[in-house]
Amino acid sequence: MSQPGPSPLSAGDKNISVDQARAAIAAALRPISAQETVAIGQALGRVLAVDVISPIDVPAHDNSAMDGYAFASADLLSDAVTTLRPVGTLYAGAPYAGKVGAGECLRIMTGAVMPAKLDTVVPLELCRTEGTPEAATVHIDPGVMRAGENRRRRGEDLTAGRPAVRAGRVLKPADMGLVASLGLAEVQVLRRLRVALFSTGNELRSLGQPLDPGSVYDSNRYSLLGAVQRLGMEVVDLGLVADDPAALQATLQRAVTEADVVLTSGGVSMGDADYTREVLARMGEVAFWKVAMRPGRPFAFGPLGPVGRGPEQAPVWLFALPGNPVAALVTFYAFARDALLQLAGAEATPLPVLQARCTTAIRKRPGRTEFQRAVLEPAATGGWQVRLTGSQGAGILRSMSEANALVVLRHEQGSVAEGEMVDVWLFDGLV
Ligand code: AMP
Ligand code: MG
Repeated sequence: MSQPGPSPLSAGDKNISVDQARAAIAAALRPISAQETVAIGQALGRVLAVDVISPIDVPAHDNSAMDGYAFASADLLSDAVTTLRPVGTLYAGAPYAGKVGAGECLRIMTGAVMPAKLDTVVPLELCRTEGTPEAATVHIDPGVMRAGENRRRRGEDLTAGRPAVRAGRVLKPADMGLVASLGLAEVQVLRRLRVALFSTGNELRSLGQPLDPGSVYDSNRYSLLGAVQRLGMEVVDLGLVADDPAALQATLQRAVTEADVVLTSGGVSMGDADYTREVLARMGEVAFWKVAMRPGRPFAFGPLGPVGRGPEQAPVWLFALPGNPVAALVTFYAFARDALLQLAGAEATPLPVLQARCTTAIRKRPGRTEFQRAVLEPAATGGWQVRLTGSQGAGILRSMSEANALVVLRHEQGSVAEGEMVDVWLFDGLV
């Protein structure tokens, strides 16, 4: 069952790269396993717990892909006009009971069941008809049709007994339709991951409180609330916590009883870290990492206790993000997003990495990963370009708000010249 993986603590207090941090997190986590049944109409964004096995062939019968005339390909002439005589009409949903002889055909609508001996459909626009509707003839010029065309085969979409959707799929609209096409009204999904969220800092004020000198509104809780909601997870909002060991400990104790994951912001930078460390050391095995990235440091991760609460119980994982509003979101995307999806049992769906032409030069030194807020947009000359948004200070949330993407300058990469291709993480609307 869910046991903590190899301890990520070995990386504690060391300088590690973004990739090393991501790998250590991924290695430590095990997905939740508790399942529930939901109606297919309620399944959007839920994680499928077991493969959906198709109970039927879809389509259940050979049927027509076009409006036209169904006929037997044995009647098709390759060197002369084929002439057929319609003897009936086939509508979708109403199988044909009559007989069709040599040289005969049936007017057929899209989706109508193909009678056993007919294997080809000539679309209306590829044939000529003559005479009254009751006594018409249908003419097909040579070379226009091939045997078997425009027939959808039984089971060509899905075969009975085979998996139609695999466990781990985060169900999307087409998956809902696919499951419905099998006649299944419900699916087994994993329960939603529960993510406890709180902010730390004596200077923070809740919305609605007056902003006294030196204070700032707690914005991180809302950025992170949105980010977690977008992943389809449940948020346990634990509010604001003062820079005080007893308050921190009480809130963490509540969090571990109510959630699978604790996501905090603030309180892990140099000054604060001492008392945070002391509290966390009592509660689990949290590592404070110096990740070589910008923005982002500092960052802490690890299991909160009681660790190993029985063989079937998983630890509660803490992600302590930096307080700076942009750093909080960037570290969320860099470390928490994929980890939360992994814990939720979702198949790996990392942020798409695109390549785009950078409209500005960027100075960078090798040895750390840098994330720049940017807008990815179509270039006038074709393809995609990426333009940085405003000031890149770690506290400037506006430039994150205006961005739809992050330019990712890799660990070993140096400065970027104007017009150079760069890696881009597209996050807006996707995460
Ligand atoms: P810290 O990581 O606690 O040292 O915070 C770094 C900076 O981020 C400080 O300027 C804090 O005021 C600011 N900050 C911390 N938490 C939040 C928050 N929840 N909302 C907005 N700003 C914050
Ligand atoms: Mg603070």
